[in-house]
Amino acid sequence: MKSRTGLAVLSGIATCAVLDFMILLTAGYSDIVLISPFLGGLVAGSFFIEPMKDGGKMGAITAVVDTLLVRPPIQAVLVRMGLLKIPPEISEIASLGLPMLLLLSAISFLIQLGIGFGGGLVGSYIKSRITPPQKPPPNVCPYCRAKIPPEAIYCPYCGANLKEFKSSRFW
Ligand SMILES: [Zn+2]
Repeated sequence: MKSRTGLAVLSGIATCAVLDFMILLTAGYSDIVLISPFLGGLVAGSFFIEPMKDGGKMGAITAVVDTLLVRPPIQAVLVRMGLLKIPPEISEIASLGLPMLLLLSAISFLIQLGIGFGGGLVGSYIKSRITPPQKPPPNVCPYCRAKIPPEAIYCPYCGANLKEFKSSRFW
């Protein structure tokens, strides 16, 4: 795993853990907790500048870890300490039988995966907007990589229009 990936996912999960704890403690057991995979995904995605390639994936990974590994123990500890009550309608779902329970869990899981993915997209989109475009080294042709004078308008080696390239990078 690349270190940036690890750092992104860790930061996202830390965000989720803090939010899960705060939301469960103050708002109780409710859908508001879905803010957590969104913002966690956003934080993880903000480490990358390509929403479709990296951001969404980071957000989705963060949401999966949050849903499966982070929120359940936080929830269990809060319930055990008497700080969180599981509403009766949730306990009733358990009596619907295993297939229904699995179906509902899978739906809930997919929703959170999607929310994390969306958060990651938003995070890396924001990051890509605030990151200045990378300038090519001034004395290298961006097309043929030959060394060229910095003030050149056309590459003396491949003939590429360098002015066009430069202006297209700074929209
Ligand atoms: Zn060239």
